[in-house]
Amino acid sequence: MATLSGLKPGVVTGEEYRTLVAACQEGGYALPAVNVIGTNTINAVLEAAAKNRSDVIIQLSNGGARFFAGEGMKDALQARILGAVSAARHVHLLAEQYGVCVVLHTDHANKGLIPWVEGMIGHSEQAVRDTGRPLFSSHMLDLSEEPLEENLAECARILRRLAPLGMSLEIELGVTGGEEDGIGSEDLESADNAHLYTQPEDVLRAYELLSPIGHFSVAASFGNVHGVYAPGNVKLRPEILGASQELVASRHGGGRKPLALVFHGGSGSEKEKIAQAVDFGVFKMNIDTDTQFAFAEAVGRFVFANEVAFRHQIDPATGKPQKKLYDPRKWLREGETGVVRRLDEAFADLGSAGRSLAKA
Ligand SMILES: [Zn+2]
Repeated sequence: MATLSGLKPGVVTGEEYRTLVAACQEGGYALPAVNVIGTNTINAVLEAAAKNRSDVIIQLSNGGARFFAGEGMKDALQARILGAVSAARHVHLLAEQYGVCVVLHTDHANKGLIPWVEGMIGHSEQAVRDTGRPLFSSHMLDLSEEPLEENLAECARILRRLAPLGMSLEIELGVTGGEEDGIGSEDLESADNAHLYTQPEDVLRAYELLSPIGHFSVAASFGNVHGVYAPGNVKLRPEILGASQELVASRHGGGRKPLALVFHGGSGSEKEKIAQAVDFGVFKMNIDTDTQFAFAEAVGRFVFANEVAFRHQIDPATGKPQKKLYDPRKWLREGETGVVRRLDEAFADLGSAGRSLAKA
């Protein structure tokens, strides 16, 4: 069995990816999905994974992919597609050397960003023809603003293209609400509110439509609304995830955790709720704002402590050259080590440290 004999280090797709997801769910741990925007953040994630002997998920948002291609590129759609492809190739080239398994993923794509996703799929189709392997392990569609049936129909269409390539799809169900939709505080107290908490019946519908087509994962809302409410206004209710697992298992079997679940908006969550969510079958937790701050905080600390070097090539008071301080390798490295420190914490919180499936 692949779980016992281990996987080859590097980017995992298809059967290897499913083995990794199953190992997380059976072992009761999850992997951080870290958003990256350039080679500095990618290398920091690989370094942290190797240091912690954990597998890891590297993820690009459409904005991150665009930044990766360079702000000077005029065609925004091509920049989003080629930036993601460039990042993926960087990871494919280096990941094996770090000795861990790496999942390559993309983040939220709403209806307007479907051409971005289809453009990346085109590159994976070419990669499969050239090398037998796709560029990415999985993409994500977030059509939760659309009516459920439209959301699922479009996810099914995209998954039909991904499955033959050995790729997976992450979908999003739930949250359509916000204060502007007239949801008051009394609704926030009710776990039955379909606007805030994904309904197990919707998850069952997704499972019945998508699982015959290919592998997929679900970002379900259990109070993890990003940015709509002030912190503390919405309660995290990981037990909602358990209710979805139970409903699907009661109809279709598949053990205690038939669903591969994803935790969005994980930055800043209480550690106890994270552990509960993982227990209910979450194998992936997105982390972005916390690693952004970790990078910025470390660079900021260095710049403030060495201010003169960021104003003068030669210190006017001492006559000493400042090159060793302003060399971008010096302060970008500070940012990288800030990210590594934050990820040490994430691997510990999610229980993945020391559990890489990669063969030594
Ligand atoms: Zn989301």
